[in-house]
Amino acid sequence: MPKTYYSIKDLNYKGRDVLVLVNFDVSIKNGKVSDDERIRSHIGTLKYLKKAGAKRILMMSHMGRPNGKVVPELSTRPVAKHLSEILKEDVGFIETVGLKMPDMRYVLLENIRFNPEEESKSASDRGDLAIRILAMLDNPVFINDGFATNHREFASVVGPTKFVKSASGLLLEKEIKALQPFVNPKGKSLCVLGGAKIEDKLDIIESLSVRYTNLIIGGGMIFTFFKALGYEIGNSIVNDEKVDDIRKMMQNPKLSSKFILPDKVVVCRVLDKKKKLKDLRQGDYDDVKTVSSTDIPKGYYGFDVLFNQAAQEAISKAKFIYWNGPMGVFENSDFSQGSYLIGSLIQDSKAKKLAGGGDTLDCIKILNLQMPTTTGGGASSTYIINGTLPGIDALKSNYKRFGSK
Ligand code: AMP
Repeated sequence: MPKTYYSIKDLNYKGRDVLVLVNFDVSIKNGKVSDDERIRSHIGTLKYLKKAGAKRILMMSHMGRPNGKVVPELSTRPVAKHLSEILKEDVGFIETVGLKMPDMRYVLLENIRFNPEEESKSASDRGDLAIRILAMLDNPVFINDGFATNHREFASVVGPTKFVKSASGLLLEKEIKALQPFVNPKGKSLCVLGGAKIEDKLDIIESLSVRYTNLIIGGGMIFTFFKALGYEIGNSIVNDEKVDDIRKMMQNPKLSSKFILPDKVVVCRVLDKKKKLKDLRQGDYDDVKTVSSTDIPKGYYGFDVLFNQAAQEAISKAKFIYWNGPMGVFENSDFSQGSYLIGSLIQDSKAKKLAGGGDTLDCIKILNLQMPTTTGGGASSTYIINGTLPGIDALKSNYKRFGSK
């Protein structure tokens, strides 16, 4: 295939500074990183740049959703400390864009989303932030390794590509390579969708219901389907605004024949209505029972789903399986059976498979399942829908601008 954007291996780093977009959006407990998987996923890129002779490497990442304000609990400072332990080398930290870069190989910038320009609607504000960051560096190039935010046109994703030579990092390349076969799968294809919010998944349902052979639908969003079909759903979560959209889709036999919906639901009564559903523990609910999907009693909550033979057959016949979203409230073992059953069938199938998005990775971890995963939820589904991402398009434009130089 002809080259459409630079790879990390194409650029020359000797004596130059490098700006790298990473995804260090990790959870911090008592000032310490509690799960460093996301940090470790960028180590290959960081070490590559050092080995290739980069002078100073400035990393930028978001953490959580500070919405353009400084939120001390979302500081990336603890990540710098943790990273220095992984790299066995001091990692500097810069609190504000514009401060002097220390003379150190690795430097981490404070949470990029503390800057209101990062997510600004104005391209010129986003460009200004990118310029101010690049101005801290000597003769810089930009490496985009932050796959998880590449579906957003944020300053840190597209901004630097407008001004300096830019390339994809090793993690970004690995993620895109893993996703590629799922864009237009060659052979029987299955998408397994779950999770709480139908509004997050409607785009992928609409797009893949045309391109994929089958879609297994579970999780909290199934109740919007059930409502559209006229079933009683008790107190289960539902998005009333999407009921009509789903009904229209289900009335189209070409699409509805592809859907595999659960025929059983695990329901219960909730006694403590103040707690988040995923935080409910035994004693907060009672009368857990499995009922037919058409027989959910009034006042009960559907927290898990079970499928019949059709789901098993679709999984065993598929050549490609993309799984995004748990089948139930997997955080509670009373409601994790549906995710476990579907997850282990996927795990054991011979299909080329990929899982990711929302809480799917936590679900896989908690249930001890093994399968290839992707680190970006929104980014992976957007890539499967469109076959590209704003971050990738920005790299392509950059290549057109700088490619011949
Ligand atoms: P998402 O981030 O959209 O993948 O959603 C993941 C969340 O969906 C998890 O925290 C699950 O507990 C939650 N979830 C799954 N099934 C249900 C359900 N039936 N009712 C409420 N929440 C659910």
